[in-house]
Amino acid sequence: MTHDGSELSAHGEAGTSAGAVGLRRYDHSLMGVFGTPQRVLTHGQGSDVWDADGKRYLDLLGGIAVNALGHADPEWAGAIATQAATLGHVSNFFATEPQIRLAERLLEISGAPTGSRVFLCNSGTEANEAAFKMSRRTGRTRILALVDSFHGRSTGALALTYKAAYREPFAPLAPGVEWIPANDVAALEAAMDDDVAALFIEPIQGEAGVIPLTHAYLEAARELTLRHGALLIADEVQTGIGRTGTWLAMQAHGIQPDVVTLAKGLGGGFPIGAVIAYGQQAATMLTKGQHGTTFGGNPLGSAAALATLDAIDARGLLAHVKALGEHLKQTIGAIPGVLEVRGEGLLLGIKLESEISASVAAAAIEDGFIINPPSPDTIRLAPALVLTQPEADTFVEWLRGHLAAAAAHTQGDQS
Ligand SMILES: *Cc1c(COP(=O)(O)O)cnc(C)c1O
Repeated sequence: MTHDGSELSAHGEAGTSAGAVGLRRYDHSLMGVFGTPQRVLTHGQGSDVWDADGKRYLDLLGGIAVNALGHADPEWAGAIATQAATLGHVSNFFATEPQIRLAERLLEISGAPTGSRVFLCNSGTEANEAAFKMSRRTGRTRILALVDSFHGRSTGALALTYKAAYREPFAPLAPGVEWIPANDVAALEAAMDDDVAALFIEPIQGEAGVIPLTHAYLEAARELTLRHGALLIADEVQTGIGRTGTWLAMQAHGIQPDVVTLAKGLGGGFPIGAVIAYGQQAATMLTKGQHGTTFGGNPLGSAAALATLDAIDARGLLAHVKALGEHLKQTIGAIPGVLEVRGEGLLLGIKLESEISASVAAAAIEDGFIINPPSPDTIRLAPALVLTQPEADTFVEWLRGHLAAAAAHTQGDQS
């Protein structure tokens, strides 16, 4: 039985379904960097999304931690439509009210001190490019990043990213980056000196399989970067904007970095990124003419982000995310076959006893649940912040049943 109670549709069998035809056209028109997508999706509502053959899915990935308000939220869509019908784009030779209000809101929710400033851009990788350029303005060129880090695909952010398969085809990238193991204070102490420009971290390493940095490690990172005059740059592209139950994941630790980068959830599905520079010193590192963007901070993206932030506030979603995250950790953590559930709020990594995450994700989508396997033994959930507990529980029950059946199957093979 699938999520919507229907029988499985005939994906790929006849090869003439609307979805199959769409995917063939995709393969003949789009560059193959993502491989062939899993489905053609047509519309959504809240945490539900439908494919071209009319099948419904419960979306537990949220466009990879993007669709904070779910699909087609009326307030969000209305804010974008109203802004589009008022003033859509002006260039950064001009200021707009949504852009100014968004910057003010980001300073407010981040608790940044007087003198802090915001740079608005269009994506996570661009936010990290700006942070990378800030680090060069320290006059130092050594940058520390963490093993298993992911910071984006443009060449500066890629230079910070750990995975060799992503970087090596594009060598030489910007020099000066060294990777040290996450949560290893001794390694950080050994690597840190007065030549280090910046330490880039993700409070929870999302692409690596939802690996949280410990409070002790983050404290040491703050202390050592301060002592050596290096910037502490928190890439909160995935963890930011309520995803973990606080506006920023760093706030749960009471640790203020020098720079935070944001994107994914910020626009609720509209492409936008941001850099928050904490305090006057960080805020003035990039001066007039040293950085720029055509689209960054445009009124449409700013209106989408403001609508997202307003809805998170008005609907009490930070508390909801915290409570639902705890519920999921407990219920999923108790399923036989699950070793642990990592992460915070609605950024969760389900570590399985065996390396079957890809086959679990494949079975899930057939049964009407969209999840993601970032590593062989881990399933990632990053659903809309508006996901309800009854919706979430349908997946918990599905996973319990699926893992039990998989275990029985394996035992049958062995006997
Ligand atoms: C997704 C992600 C990025 C890259 O963001 P894009 O918008 O895809 O460029 C950077 N850092 C982290 C932690 C991410 O999760």
